[in-house]
Amino acid sequence: MARILIRVNEEQVAEPIAAQIIIEYKVPMVILSAHINNKGGEILVEFPDDMETKIADAFRRRGVTVTIPKLIQVNTEKCFSCGTCIALCPVEAINIDKNDTVQFNKEKCLGNTCSICVDACPARAIKSLKTNNNDRDQNRKKKT
Ligand code: SF4
Ligand code: SF4
Repeated sequence: MARILIRVNEEQVAEPIAAQIIIEYKVPMVILSAHINNKGGEILVEFPDDMETKIADAFRRRGVTVTIPKLIQVNTEKCFSCGTCIALCPVEAINIDKNDTVQFNKEKCLGNTCSICVDACPARAIKSLKTNNNDRDQNRKKKT
């Protein structure tokens, strides 16, 4: 499944943009997380891999900013296997294997729309990966 993070502004937040795209492209889209208020916000959506370009472009054509969500990375040198991140992760994307090493499941992770584990780790062993600059370039191109 493909995931994209869409950012809507104050004007777009009241528009049924996602619903229109679901209907137009007959795409089975799942909203994984949403942080929105009347000023705008971010929505993480998931849909079949083979529709990624088509759906991302559909959002961009409607003026919505689209990025690939940042994932997290665990520094196993710093981690002391306390289990805090495992207990707090809302989607069970982290576990500890039989060697006491943290294992991270990127398919499940909600990325930087969540970041609960990043903030909670007492060893500062978890960080968000860098933003994909190509996404910004693509957004710019679509607007011109
Ligand atoms: S960022 Fe959120 S979803 Fe991803 S591993 Fe951390 S707590 Fe779990
Ligand atoms: S919260 Fe930090 S130190 Fe604790 S298990 Fe997770 S990564 Fe390791």
